[in-house]
Amino acid sequence: MLVLENIERSYQLSSQHSVRALAGVSLSIPQGEFAAIVGASGSGKSTLLNILGLLDKPTHGRYRFGETWIENLDDDAMSSLRNAQIGFVFQSFHLMPRLSVLENVLLPLRYARTEVAGATEHAKSLLERIGLSSRISHKPSELSGGQQQRVAICRALLMRPPVLLADEPTGNLDSKSAADVSNMLKELHQAGQTIVLVTHDHDIAQMAQRVITLKDGLVAGDERTA
Ligand code: ADP
Ligand code: MG
Repeated sequence: MLVLENIERSYQLSSQHSVRALAGVSLSIPQGEFAAIVGASGSGKSTLLNILGLLDKPTHGRYRFGETWIENLDDDAMSSLRNAQIGFVFQSFHLMPRLSVLENVLLPLRYARTEVAGATEHAKSLLERIGLSSRISHKPSELSGGQQQRVAICRALLMRPPVLLADEPTGNLDSKSAADVSNMLKELHQAGQTIVLVTHDHDIAQMAQRVITLKDGLVAGDERTA
């Protein structure tokens, strides 16, 4: 479903200096797969995830999302594809502090171009699945870090995106909360969700079916877990 062909991404820092964050990555991620991306800080993990998530375009190489080659899309088409097809979760949950838990989960509606039938019911059922039904009117600050991240995952899932991408979602969490978040990802995968997870926690990476290791902007390992 996601196909990267020899992807490079360079950042021009000045007329003389550039950094090559990705130096030629080829990967294919089938529908329903749970893949983890690991690697040292600066190895290109976030750059790769941003390209997979249509937040950024490669400077060389080709990316196919489903049936669509991304180089053929303008920014508008790229963001509508992203809004409909991709859920994103970040290390620092990015919840809106003044909005309730339920309002946070419903935020993607503000970017939707069409009516979304049953969104509130869907949001409530997502929150119910993680045991937060009694907290829907609370503010994010009244929840633990692990609960906040699971709310952020509910928000990422509101539009039923076929692909869920997570960049170090447990990076700010204690080990108990990290386990709650990773169990949620595992359950989503078991229910058929395609997931790409960036993490530098090797124990969490082992929950995925596949561990891809980046080194200096290149794939240095690509292994199935036991
Ligand atoms: P990781 O997520 O594995 O830590 P990144 O993808 O964030 O790595 O970064 C890979 C490399 O690209 C690093 O050398 C980083 O400094 C550089 N880089 C990332 N984003 C930018 C940017 N916006 N401008 C310049 N350099 C960047
Ligand atoms: Mg990163």
